[in-house]
Amino acid sequence: MSSESISFSDLALAAPVLKAITDVGYEQPSPIQAASIPHLLQGHDLLGVAQTGTGKTAAFALPMLSNIDVSKKTPQLLVLAPTRELAIQVAEAFQRYACNIKGFHVLPIYGGQDMSGQLRQLRRGVHVVVGTPGRVMDHLRRSSLDLSGLTSIVLDEADEMLRMGFIDDVEWILEHAPKERQTALFSATMPKQIRSVANRYLNSPKEVSIKSDTTTGDNIEQCYWMVSGTNKLDALTRILEVESFDGMIIFVRTKTATAELAEKLEARGHSASALNGDMNQQLRERTIERLKNKKLDIIIATDVAARGIDVQRVSHVINYDIPYDSEAYVHRIGRTGRAGRSGKAILFVAPREKRLLYAIEKATRRPLVSMELPTSETVSAMRVDQFKETLLETIKSQDLSFFNEVLAQFSHENDIAPEEIASALGFLCQKERPLQVQWSNVKPARDNHRDRDRNDSREKRPRRERGSDENMQTFRIEVGRTHNARPGDIVGAIANEAGIDSQHIGAIRLFDDFSTVDLPKGMPDETFETLKKVRVRNQTLNISLDQGSRGKPRGDRPNRGDKNGKPPRRSGRKPS
Ligand code: AMP
Repeated sequence: MSSESISFSDLALAAPVLKAITDVGYEQPSPIQAASIPHLLQGHDLLGVAQTGTGKTAAFALPMLSNIDVSKKTPQLLVLAPTRELAIQVAEAFQRYACNIKGFHVLPIYGGQDMSGQLRQLRRGVHVVVGTPGRVMDHLRRSSLDLSGLTSIVLDEADEMLRMGFIDDVEWILEHAPKERQTALFSATMPKQIRSVANRYLNSPKEVSIKSDTTTGDNIEQCYWMVSGTNKLDALTRILEVESFDGMIIFVRTKTATAELAEKLEARGHSASALNGDMNQQLRERTIERLKNKKLDIIIATDVAARGIDVQRVSHVINYDIPYDSEAYVHRIGRTGRAGRSGKAILFVAPREKRLLYAIEKATRRPLVSMELPTSETVSAMRVDQFKETLLETIKSQDLSFFNEVLAQFSHENDIAPEEIASALGFLCQKERPLQVQWSNVKPARDNHRDRDRNDSREKRPRRERGSDENMQTFRIEVGRTHNARPGDIVGAIANEAGIDSQHIGAIRLFDDFSTVDLPKGMPDETFETLKKVRVRNQTLNISLDQGSRGKPRGDRPNRGDKNGKPPRRSGRKPS
């Protein structure tokens, strides 16, 4: 069976899990899910090459949940994730997929979070723990996390854990887990260190990677918008204003999303309709027919429902939710540029999904062009042009003699110039859709992310030089070369435990017994206290403000009085 024809009900998932999928609105398993779920259900170890956005969380969560025994009180599954955001996201996904499993508990554990709450919940009993390596080790050392009943471990984003310097910790945890267990390792790339972890800790794993043979036509202009500063619906609305399109297909991931987005676009005055697998064949055909006959301009579809649509007037495809893989991308954008016409494809990419973008570019051997959202000025200018056009057309095509008379009379009676009357009428006409729009300016897409991630190596990235940025402060930490610390370890620990986005971590200098690191000014006391206790290579960082040279007395608190001081940004959590 090809992954295209597999449905969730073919996969032998437990009934409550299957019901949750229907509730969430997933129509069909993504390729990584179709390939992984059967192996995991059968108890095999698994090595999966998959990145964020491919549906890999459900690929392990659904089969693992199908095998959970809620009557047991010690954790049965441990998921290790590189960052607190991912840990939270994965725990939330478990919660969502387990909504019909009574008494199920999942607990995310990560550094920087109050320990007592975690301890209380662990004592109360949880079935799944999702944690960052450092905090999981802490709990194992304190014996507050009991792995004796563990049946499975998932290493999520293993290459990211390697890059952040956690791989030794991961191995330590694997050594301390029961030998009889199922292990699944997911990684976007397969560097040799990850291969070697897999060789050592996985038992005859099934390997799953999603290949895609893909080529896209020259007649389709392809671009992407990096989601930032504006939500996707607002971005879409702006794009619809300025793109001159004939027919359009917008792709989303769930049936629910097709209906919701169709409703929102209709409310904004577009003629839009949903197309999803819940609709019967007849209704689906009728919807496509309406698109062909120009009774409808926009269809919001899932991959399944839009398969094979051949409507020549589709000039645009918008990938509102990123497709799972390059092959799905090619299928989607192939709905435009039909019969030798030209087409345009726009892809929305959330920062976490950047790797899928690169995978698409690599597979299609075609770089996508970064686009910026239209500004208020552009949209205002377009609206003014359209207004003028409508006026001209009305003057040309309508008999206006009656209004000429009424307005001449009005002008005479009130001694108001015809231009002023015309302006008032223009205002009335455009009341609902003002010609002058004022949006807060959208930040351009941040392509520095792109370059950094393309290089795929945090260590290689030159960090800002000390003192080169007035918004940074230099701190001293009590771990250095003699402790075998590497910059990657330090970035990983600070990013993870203090929630400081790694891009805000500046230059790191290693000395023998200590190191210095540049961090944004204005660090809150709470973060400072957390960082003091963080450990790297078994050394407590005991962070303090650096006094500029070795051996000088150490400062105490970071400078919080500087009015230019930017507080370190806590990396926010994205709703999935
Ligand atoms: P992940 O790769 O696990 O981060 O998942 C990316 C997104 O895809 C999440 O928003 C999921 O809710 C969504 N997703 C996962 N599996 C499916 C599916 N079979 N159908 C539709 N959406 C899905």
